[in-house]
Formats: sequence, structure tokens, C-alpha cells
Amino acid sequence: MTARIIDGNALSAEVRGQLAERAAALKTKGITPCLAAILVGEDPASAVYVRNKVAACEKAGMRSIKDVYAVDVDPAVVFARIAELNADPSVHGILVQLPLPKHFDSAAVLESISPEKDVDGFHAENVGALMQGNPRFIPCTPYGVMKMLESANVPLKGAEVVIVGRSNIVGKPMAMLLLAQSCTVTICHSQSKDLAFHTRRADILVAAVGRAKMITGDMIKPGATVIDVGINRTAEGKLCGDVDFETAKEVAGVITPVPGGVGPMTITMLLANTLEAAERCAK
Ligand code: NDP
Repeated sequence: MTARIIDGNALSAEVRGQLAERAAALKTKGITPCLAAILVGEDPASAVYVRNKVAACEKAGMRSIKDVYAVDVDPAVVFARIAELNADPSVHGILVQLPLPKHFDSAAVLESISPEKDVDGFHAENVGALMQGNPRFIPCTPYGVMKMLESANVPLKGAEVVIVGRSNIVGKPMAMLLLAQSCTVTICHSQSKDLAFHTRRADILVAAVGRAKMITGDMIKPGATVIDVGINRTAEGKLCGDVDFETAKEVAGVITPVPGGVGPMTITMLLANTLEAAERCAK
């Protein structure tokens, strides 16, 4: 059996088309959705992420602002800029690209963003709202995964879900969203004993670790849905996920590839959150 592939690029294009239509409708009311992105330092991966986010905004007919600061910038400068963006009614979404340099208190930076403009969904108020089942902004990567599961008609109610990784950005919010859909959720991490015991009983397996090809076909239940969030590079410099795609696709029922899977959906859902923020302002 070869698994059905969820094409993140194709789904992204479809959703972005719908978002562009909504952005155009909002413009007729005099509102152009606007995302402000703040980048500190010269980490090449972060620079590429911010560039892609800004470009995606422009392509969907949204406005973007990009502020880049030197790696040794005084955090007070960044806090002052966030306060300015919080107060600017023409800005609907604000994101600070992580990771920040060590002299920053990252949690304090995230808390300084207005919860109404926190399109990454990382502010404690928004994390709490998600936990209570009443989200204001859903963190973009798990939001994208939910869209992918929906598009592939993967049954959720009562499904055994195993998530590998417990980060605030992916693993934990992913668990909350799937729990809200009545899945039975297990979260594994670096201290979990016998990882394969857990992964082998998953109807839906989400890998969000950051270790190339660590989930192999023999760790997957036949017919399972496998969502690969990981972004890694092989020794040859090629992009790959946390799942060993070649062996996994022979066992899984549905699978997401890397690249071209969850990655494009993450940016798409950032656009969705920015648009939703702007639409709320129009009400
Ligand atoms: P983190 O490093 O914050 O979290 C990794 C998690 O994996 C931790 O919970 C860690 O456990 C767990 N882990 C580490 N080693 C093992 C192991 N051997 N067995 C089981 N669990 C383990 O990463 P992120 O959540 O931020 O990102 C995860 C991956 O997803 C990365 O590759 C990242 O690049 C990618 N990513 C992709 C996105 C996309 O758009 N596609 C968006 C965001 C991230 P512990 O808590 O015990 O340390």
C-alpha cells in the first residue's frame, strides 16, 4: 500500500486564493489587512521565514511592514516599536520572529504584543483562550495541520492521536486542538519511554521534534495518518522531515511530505489570522 499524500502546496494555494478574495472584499470597506514582522539578528533561516511571510502577504493583497534590528539591539528599542505597532490602528497583526538573541526575555516580548494583534497566538491570554476551547488566534502550524486533516477527510472523533514533541509552538497547541475534536491524545517527548510503543498505536501521528527521519515505517500503524511537522537537513543538505518518508509511505494511509507539506500551510494560516484580525476591526 502506498499512502495518499496531502499536498500542502496545493491546499495552500487554494486557501490563499480564498483569503485574497476576503482581503479584496475588506479593501472595499477601506481596510487593508496589515502584518508587521520584527526580525532581530541575522539568523539565515529566520531571515528566510520573515521574507516568505512578508512576500505571501503582498501576494494575497495584504500590506506588510518588516522591521529588522541588529543582533545586539537594546531590547528597549524593540519594546518601544511593539508599543507603537500596538497603538497603530492600520496594523492588524504583529509577529516577532523566534528565536530571539539571548539578551532578550522572549516571554516578555511575546507578552508585550497586544493579544488582539498576536497573530502567532503565543500571548498567554491567547494560549489560555485556546486551552479553554475558545481560541482567538490559533498558532499557525497546528492550525495548518487541522486544515490538512480536514481537507483529507481524516476522521477525528475518538481517534487515537500521538504527538511527538511538546513545544509551546507546535506540540501543546496541536494537542489542545485535537482534544477539542474529541481525539484521545498522547504527547511524547525526549523522556518518553518506548516511543515506538506509542507511535504504533496512533491512528493519527504528528511528528514535531526536529530530528531527521527519526520516525520510520516500522513505528507506524498500518493505514495511519502521518503528519510530519519537522524541518531538517540531511547530511547532503537536502530538506527532510522527522519522518522517514520512503519507509513511512509504504505503511501509512495518509501522509504529508517535507518539503511541500505542513510548511506552506503555516504561512497560509498566518495570513488567515491576520485577515481575521482585520475583519474583526471592520465589525
Ligand atoms: P522544539 O525543539 O521546541 O521541541 C522539540 C520537541 O521534541 C521537544 O518537546 C522534545 O522533548 C522533543 N524531542 C526531542 N528529542 C526527542 C526524542 N528523541 N524523542 C521524542 N521526543 C523528542 O521544536 P519545535 O516544536 O519548535 O519544532 C519541531 C520541529 O518542527 C523542528 O524541526 C522545527 O523546525 C519544525 N517546525 C516546522 C514548522 C513548519 O511550519 N513546518 C513550524 C515550527 C516548527 P523535550 O520537551 O523533552 O525536550
